[in-house]
Amino acid sequence: MLRPFLIAFVLHISFSCLAQQADDIYFIDTHNDVLSKQVKSGVDISVSQPGLDFDLPKATKGNLRAQMFSIWCDEVLGKEQAFKHATKEIDSLQSFIKRNQEHVAFVTNSKELKKALRHKKFAALIGVEGGHMIEERMDYLDSFINRGMKYLTLTWNNSTTWATSARDETFKKDSLSRLGLNEMGKQIVARLNEAKVMIDVSHAGEKTVEDVLAITTKPIIASHSCAYAISPHPRNLKDYQLKAIAANGGVVFVNFYSEFLDSTYLGKKNLFLATHKATLDSLTTQLGDPFFATIQLYKLFPAEAEAVKPPLQALIHNIDYMVKLIGIDHVGIGADFDGAESFPQQMNDVSNYPLLIDELRKLGYSTEQIKKICHGNFLRVFAAIEK
Ligand SMILES: [Zn+2]
Repeated sequence: MLRPFLIAFVLHISFSCLAQQADDIYFIDTHNDVLSKQVKSGVDISVSQPGLDFDLPKATKGNLRAQMFSIWCDEVLGKEQAFKHATKEIDSLQSFIKRNQEHVAFVTNSKELKKALRHKKFAALIGVEGGHMIEERMDYLDSFINRGMKYLTLTWNNSTTWATSARDETFKKDSLSRLGLNEMGKQIVARLNEAKVMIDVSHAGEKTVEDVLAITTKPIIASHSCAYAISPHPRNLKDYQLKAIAANGGVVFVNFYSEFLDSTYLGKKNLFLATHKATLDSLTTQLGDPFFATIQLYKLFPAEAEAVKPPLQALIHNIDYMVKLIGIDHVGIGADFDGAESFPQQMNDVSNYPLLIDELRKLGYSTEQIKKICHGNFLRVFAAIEK
């Protein structure tokens, strides 16, 4: 009876090792927009919410151990009350943390992050999306720093007076009086370096990225960006930009949005929106926001929404492309969950992150390499800005 016992023992050890390895490969994501939804609708992300890509039970299921939550409002609301709105979103995050003190920790430095991970607490961090959120005021910038902001995305789709965005550098180039950072923009970069806040160049124009790289004293990040060579969208980063971020010691966190991963998606999306125009119009009136209306429309027609999604391989291909181009130490994940209407097949919400592990293994990635993508590169760059 020795042999069956041995086999059982060996199998037990192998399964335990696999389970242990899978647990070791946890996820840290740098971009999630659920706070906008929480503030808008009052929904509680502590409990299961079928309509959301992020909630605490889904994060637990997906082994998502740390999340940078985006603080954001669009340029229209932002014209008058971006800072006020940001304050509301930060308050709503703090209230979520307070309600879940036993399981969630607020994190503002790498020591606190390590402690949260050690104690198996979900780590919540703040990233502010869009320079318009500071309303051109250095005291508002300092207020965000004091409240624990760990990255500032220099622009959203809209430019500020001090930094030009990818959208504007692409579509309004001739009407812009200047490109890149002005004096105030340079001051903001210096202040962020000094305050140990990561500079995020997702959404920033090419000239802005170039200007930042010329003066930053710390590694920078792109918190949610894909490769332009795969899908030529103005929001995506060109090969020379990806290489420059890697040369600076920075990390590009790959966005999961279908439109950035698959150049054929936009045509399919437009057809879908045109087919359901009447419903979309009424949702826009009802919700007062075309962005939330589009997300809602996709949820109303799940079969059609599924049909326009790219396969999961589109995401894996983007990650693999970047790794081959700039190296395993410079790629991470920043899915943009709750910030877009469509993600690749099977990758429906934060509970699905573990699918990445098997897909990367199929391409020959080792456990150590997968760990770097899923959390290790974030840990490195997050610690590097503190030096
Ligand atoms: Zn964004």
